[in-house]
Amino acid sequence: MATLSLQHIDKIYDNNVQAVFDFNLEVKDGELIVLVGPSGCGKSTTLRMVAGLEDISNGKLLLDGKDITQAPAKDRDMAMVFQNYALYGHMTVYENMAFSLTMRNEDPNVIHKKVLAAAEILNLTTQLNKKPSQLSGGQRQRVAMGRSIVRTPKVFLFDEPLSNLDAKLRGSTRREILLLHKRLKATMLYVTHDQTEALTLADRIVCMSMGHVQQVGTPLELYDTP
Ligand code: ADP
Ligand code: ADP
Repeated sequence: MATLSLQHIDKIYDNNVQAVFDFNLEVKDGELIVLVGPSGCGKSTTLRMVAGLEDISNGKLLLDGKDITQAPAKDRDMAMVFQNYALYGHMTVYENMAFSLTMRNEDPNVIHKKVLAAAEILNLTTQLNKKPSQLSGGQRQRVAMGRSIVRTPKVFLFDEPLSNLDAKLRGSTRREILLLHKRLKATMLYVTHDQTEALTLADRIVCMSMGHVQQVGTPLELYDTP
C-alpha cells in the first residue's frame, strides 16, 4: 500500500528562484501519475522533492499518512528508475539485479527469491547468467529496471525515462513500464514533457506551467473534448 499526499508544497531555490508554487496532489495506491509540461515548469523539481533529493521549502509530504517531509532519501522507500542506466559489465544479469540487496547484506535466499521474481516479471529468466554485453538494448533496460524492482519500493519515480532512447526502444520501454505498473500494482510518479507519453501511460495527468499545477484529470477528462 502506498498513497502519497503532497500538501501546499513550494520550492524556492537558494538563488530565490521559485520553481514550484503550492503543489497539491493526492496520489492513490497503485496510481500512475504523469507530470507533464514544458521544460522549466518545475516537474523535475517536484519529483526530486518527493524523492528527498531536494528540500521542500514549504508544505508537507505524506507517505501512507506518515509525514516524510524531512526524511532523508534513503528512508523514503522509493526508487528513482533509470536515473542510472549503467550496468556492471563484469557482473552477470543476476549479479547486477542482486547488487543493491547484496550491498545491504540481505539473506542470500531472500535475494534469490527477489531476483527470480523480478526476472519473471521482466521476462529475463533465461538471461540471468549472461553479461550485459550479450543482451539487446531493451534487455539491458529491463535489467536496469530490475535493479529497482528487487528492492520492492513503495513508490517508483521516473524522470523522463524515454528521452535518451531511439524510437523502437522508447515504444518497448513504455510498454514495459505499463506492464510493470499492472503487475506490481505500484504507485508511480512519472515526469515527461511529451503529451503523447502522458496520454498513453497515465491514470491521471497533472499539467504544470511555470511552477503551478494548471489541471489534474484522467486522459479522457483532459483531452477528450467534444
Ligand atoms: P522541468 O523539470 O519542468 O524542466 P525544473 O524543475 O528542472 O523543470 O526547473 C524548474 C525551474 O527551477 C527552472 O526555472 C529551473 O531553471 C529552476 N531550477 C532547477 N534546478 C535549480 C537549481 N538547482 N537551482 C536554481 N534553480 C533551479
Ligand atoms: P541503488 O540501486 O542502491 O540506488 P545502484 O545499483 O544504482 O544503487 O548503484 C549503486 C552504486 O554503484 C551507485 O553509487 C552507482 O553510482 C554505482 N554504479 C552503478 N553502476 C555502475 C557502473 N557500471 N560503474 C560504476 N559505478 C556504478
